[in-house]
Amino acid sequence: MKQMPPPWLNPLQQRLEQAVAEDRLPQAWLVHGPPGLAKRAWAVQAMQSLLCDAERACGSCKSCRLMAAGAHPDALQLQPDGKWIKVEQVRELIHWATLSAQQAQRKVCVIEQAEKMNLAAANALLKTLEEPPGNTLFLLLADAMEGIPATIRSRCRLDHVPLPPAEQAQEWLHARFGSSGVVEQALSLAMNNPGRAAQWLREERVPTMLEWVGQLLQLWRNPSNLPVVQQAASALPMDEILQLCWCISAECIKIATGKPRAGRYLPLRPDVNTGQLPALFELQKQAWKARSMLGSGMREEGLLLDWLLNWIKAGRAT
Ligand SMILES: [Zn+2]
Repeated sequence: MKQMPPPWLNPLQQRLEQAVAEDRLPQAWLVHGPPGLAKRAWAVQAMQSLLCDAERACGSCKSCRLMAAGAHPDALQLQPDGKWIKVEQVRELIHWATLSAQQAQRKVCVIEQAEKMNLAAANALLKTLEEPPGNTLFLLLADAMEGIPATIRSRCRLDHVPLPPAEQAQEWLHARFGSSGVVEQALSLAMNNPGRAAQWLREERVPTMLEWVGQLLQLWRNPSNLPVVQQAASALPMDEILQLCWCISAECIKIATGKPRAGRYLPLRPDVNTGQLPALFELQKQAWKARSMLGSGMREEGLLLDWLLNWIKAGRAT
């Protein structure tokens, strides 16, 4: 069954179809953009249509049936094994790439989260990209370009999937979750990332998030509530809590600078003024940095506590 990709992937899909029509498919293609935008679903669909006998992911030819069973010899998907894509995985991929196509005219491999390749893995892949085997497409996906070595980037056709315009994101969410206020709240908390908002809506997490945000905002009036706010944070993954910290700092900045519609989804409207702006910008930066430090061995609770203490201080700055 062929599924419609979300509308923000249409430009990418058109570029793929054009490349196929002109017989100018690259040997390595790197598609990057924020997580949650269905890049993987698109890539799997692209792989299926490139291998399909009818070249359109028909769902009924032998290739499509093999794909559906996860047994297509000319299709390969690679994803991090734990935190990283390891060199052994890439070596297996290279071995697979040297075999000639068995079922389709070409072979396609999708490397998910290519930014998670460790150095040895990236070096091994680079050698293959320098002298790629014929009729094989290496389709790399990345949530962030930072982790991709420049040597690999330069061997790939690059395409970016940006966050869609707010209206498109809203429309897409409304078609799935109805047009309730919670959809708008989810999208705002997800900083306009519809995929992430959809995940939170599916998991019914938005009320918990808003409750925590409310407690956070009240902390300015009632700093002695700090232990309660800390404790309540454990209801959500730390990555999301820190994203909320980032998001709320950004929203307070918008309110302080008089942006229209700022803060309308917040459970209560914070009293912010321009004197607090420097502190709010610092808080935003700190939340971002803390997020990037998750998993590095730093104590998560410590990262949050430092941020909360600065948040309380910012509440006093006028
Ligand atoms: Zn087919």
